Amino acid sequence: MMNNVVAHIESHCLKHSIKLTSLRKLIILLLSEQNQPITAYELLAKLNEQSKDKNYNIMSIYRVLDFLCQNELIHRIHTTNCYTICCHPEKHICQLFICKNCGTKIEQHDEQLDQTLQKLAQKSAFAISQHTIELFGLCHKCLSFAI
Ligand SMILES: [Zn+2]
Ligand SMILES: [Zn+2]
Repeated sequence: MMNNVVAHIESHCLKHSIKLTSLRKLIILLLSEQNQPITAYELLAKLNEQSKDKNYNIMSIYRVLDFLCQNELIHRIHTTNCYTICCHPEKHICQLFICKNCGTKIEQHDEQLDQTLQKLAQKSAFAISQHTIELFGLCHKCLSFAI
């Protein structure tokens, strides 16, 4: 399933002429393997662990993460400063449900919600530039433990 996400992102990049360097690809692959959003430093540690011949530094990781965020291939969770893969990069609105207990991320896309928000923005003469909505709570697994 995870490889599907990567293949999906790769074809999306091809279609939109987004250039994927080997490091960009590597980071996409690593993020797609995580069940939970991770920090740039956690990503760096995993990357250096995996590729022993190379030693990546945090600045190059941040550069790639910024690029991937700008092209909406990954999400930066602003509240926790963690990064996670975007499951549907062709959709411009993502609702991220993040479990406070185990950190699991579930992604949804509701066009109607986007339209509602656009209407509200218009009323306020406001231009939305960032569409990701972060929602915190408990996932179904943690919920069943809590009961
Ligand atoms: Zn997304
Ligand atoms: Zn959970």
